[in-house]
Amino acid sequence: MYSLLIKNAAIVDGSGKPPYIADLAVQGDEIAAIAPQISTPAETVIDADGKILCPGFVDLQNHSDSYWQLFDNPSLDSLVSQGFTTILTGNCGASLAPLLSHDALLSVQKWHNLDAANINWQTFSEYIEELSAHKFGCNVASLVGYSTLRRAVVGDRVRALEKEEMSALKKVLSQSLDAGAFGLSNGLSYAHEIIISELELFELAKIVKKADGLFSIHLRSEGGEIAEAVEEAIDIARNTEVNLKISHLKIRNQQNWNKYSEVIGLIEVAYHQNVSVHFDLYPYDTVWQALYSYLPKWAIEGGRTIMLKHFADPIQKNKILMYLNNLGVNFSNMQIASTANKLNFTGKTVGQVAKNLETSSEKAVLELIANGGSEVLVFEKNLNPDHVSALSAHPLSFMGTDGAGFSAGQKDKLVHPRCFGTAPKFIKDSLSGGRLALEEIIKKLTSGPAKKMGLKKRGELKAGNFADLVIFDKAKITDRSTYQNPFQYSEGIEFVFVNGRAALAQGKITGEKHGRILRKT
Ligand SMILES: [Zn+2]
Repeated sequence: MYSLLIKNAAIVDGSGKPPYIADLAVQGDEIAAIAPQISTPAETVIDADGKILCPGFVDLQNHSDSYWQLFDNPSLDSLVSQGFTTILTGNCGASLAPLLSHDALLSVQKWHNLDAANINWQTFSEYIEELSAHKFGCNVASLVGYSTLRRAVVGDRVRALEKEEMSALKKVLSQSLDAGAFGLSNGLSYAHEIIISELELFELAKIVKKADGLFSIHLRSEGGEIAEAVEEAIDIARNTEVNLKISHLKIRNQQNWNKYSEVIGLIEVAYHQNVSVHFDLYPYDTVWQALYSYLPKWAIEGGRTIMLKHFADPIQKNKILMYLNNLGVNFSNMQIASTANKLNFTGKTVGQVAKNLETSSEKAVLELIANGGSEVLVFEKNLNPDHVSALSAHPLSFMGTDGAGFSAGQKDKLVHPRCFGTAPKFIKDSLSGGRLALEEIIKKLTSGPAKKMGLKKRGELKAGNFADLVIFDKAKITDRSTYQNPFQYSEGIEFVFVNGRAALAQGKITGEKHGRILRKT
């Protein structure tokens, strides 16, 4: 007697092999058998005739930790409802551990205000232990965020590390990797990280390589200097042989779009020279960004108090406004997603706010940052949709949300639709454009990312692997989440099983939390 039997499904096993019709049996948390006809009885039988059965999706680029959703919404509904059964957190330099000092969490404040957070861990090992005492909708793994490590030492200052500081951080990184972290992430474009030298990154990459971990890089530039930023990342991987993943690859702002061929060329050449390089992206042409990040670096150095002093000084303020004017960014069309102090601006454009204040959009930006707390987030449409399509179909890409798990009930702000719709939108768009075969689409969501992060027994349907499963209707799958109304689950995904238990059944979230905390072994 099996616990679950799925009959007559078109199996897309995640390996890249074309679909074939078969039955799949689950015993407990494992896939017990896949065969043309399984007649052993089971407690639950699902007839999946006409439906696709594939492995649960793996999100290498997840922020459920830094948005605090692991604790605010542990069922991670918006991810589970898309078919994600494993998420890798700790991205873009920010993880919730290890915490060498209180300042470590400054790395996370750009996404979530942690003033009320209850934190009872310091080391990575203690963090994993704490997470293990909670229940989650999907499996959760984590990288170590280098900003979290580094800011514990430098706080709000932007400076190089002393030799002893660096060796202390390297030791803690090693310990964290031993405790089960899947690798290290960097957020090199952020104000406090832009100073990190390539040499410093080399030192870190060597440690990550030794542990056979993933080296995840949010590039130093996604605009005018993106080619140099990609070169830097590749250089590190080439010289240290570390397993490199570039996070949310994109080229911002129309004036930089002509760099596309150069950027993709650099990645392809490196890959063919045996550099282990891949990238992830989300299938949208609009970014979700902290508004303060558009300010010049000098204005944010030293933290919020100093920044506000610059705003109050007419000469400094003017310098900032001139910088914003020359940035080539259309602030007026930018949509406000959230403000910390619940100003009533959510959903409005910066242009509308400027009109109400009878001022320019650039001045409205400063007003918003000054009055809306440090985490005013905006949507800016600045990517080329053709690049998004081409990168989605590229053999070295994976699909990742760069988002977090929210539930449809959390409506006090707007979140990027990618938190709700990444996988269904990618599947639907790729199928309708005929850009990729179904088995290639599924591979980019399953065995591709699973192998990249070193995940064992997940990402492929075969006997003995964990029963992380998705059943969907190829003809009906679609995202529904929008920028104005993001809190909408997608359609067409009928069942999601995490470790053999239903997290989504007949299209409805069950609320059951059978995810596990994963350690790299
Ligand atoms: Zn990032």
